[in-house]
Amino acid sequence: MRKLVHRPRRLRRSPALRNLVRETALNAHDFVLPLFVSEKVTSRKAIASMPGVFQLAPSEIADEAERARDAGLQAILLFGIPTTKDEEASAAYAENAVVQQAVRAVKSRCPDLVVITDVCLCEYMSHGHCGVTRLDGEHFHVLNDETVELLAGTAVSHARAGADIVAPSDMMDGRVAAIREALDAAGFTDIAIMSYAAKFASAFYGPFREAAESPPQFGDRRSYQMDPANADEALREAALDVDEGADILLVKPALPYLDILWRVRERFGKPTAVYHVSGEYAMLKAGAANGCFEERAAVFEVMTSLKRAGADLIITYWAKELAEWIRE
Ligand SMILES: [Zn+2]
Repeated sequence: MRKLVHRPRRLRRSPALRNLVRETALNAHDFVLPLFVSEKVTSRKAIASMPGVFQLAPSEIADEAERARDAGLQAILLFGIPTTKDEEASAAYAENAVVQQAVRAVKSRCPDLVVITDVCLCEYMSHGHCGVTRLDGEHFHVLNDETVELLAGTAVSHARAGADIVAPSDMMDGRVAAIREALDAAGFTDIAIMSYAAKFASAFYGPFREAAESPPQFGDRRSYQMDPANADEALREAALDVDEGADILLVKPALPYLDILWRVRERFGKPTAVYHVSGEYAMLKAGAANGCFEERAAVFEVMTSLKRAGADLIITYWAKELAEWIRE
């Protein structure tokens, strides 16, 4: 009888065979491009901590969206920076506020581009927290139910402007159900909800706060964002959002939370998104600028790891470049 020998792994040796059996391939439609639209600028303004990322003027947003679509992207995620902030975040849900106008501009130029809107109050609150707050001497409390009501109103106003998906990023309790109910009541039964099911209190959000001009003026967000040490809690949070009617579950940040992404995708079997956040972007940019690695190769490796870990959608500041690189 012929002795069985360990055979070499031939599939890996030839580029053609390697490509044939590759398990994970990136496509332009895996990516969602976050865009910042600011009422405070009249032309694009660079964000120092995020090379290549800009705040856009309201007059520029449709052009930028069109470029994203032409590169092959199917979706953008809009964040707004208002001229005025107050303690009720009224610029979040006013009919002609910055995001509402941007959505209309994008939709009239690119009707087929999926527009996702960030639904939160921190960019619109004078104190920079994600909800209505009450100060008790040294301590502050975020008032959950009052916040949820404003979030639901914000989501409906985004839908009225033409948004396809609303993305509540606040992490208040019960907000997905409240938003679903408000959307349905207003006749927007087809508008989907992408919920930040697991948003961790992360060190990697720093550059975003410059981009969105939303650093908290006091305290931090640890009372409503999750402890990076907790994975089971993330699954419980995601389960609540599923029960409340979330259509897409989002995990944020990305690379330090691949296990969460994997478990959420496996457990719920729902479309799952991951947000490769500003600090992760800045870190790779800095590494590449210092010659530690080649940018494109590093970005591809990271994005592949996110998709391999279960991401159906990847929100990344490289979305447009990725679409172009993939086409090459
Ligand atoms: Zn927020």
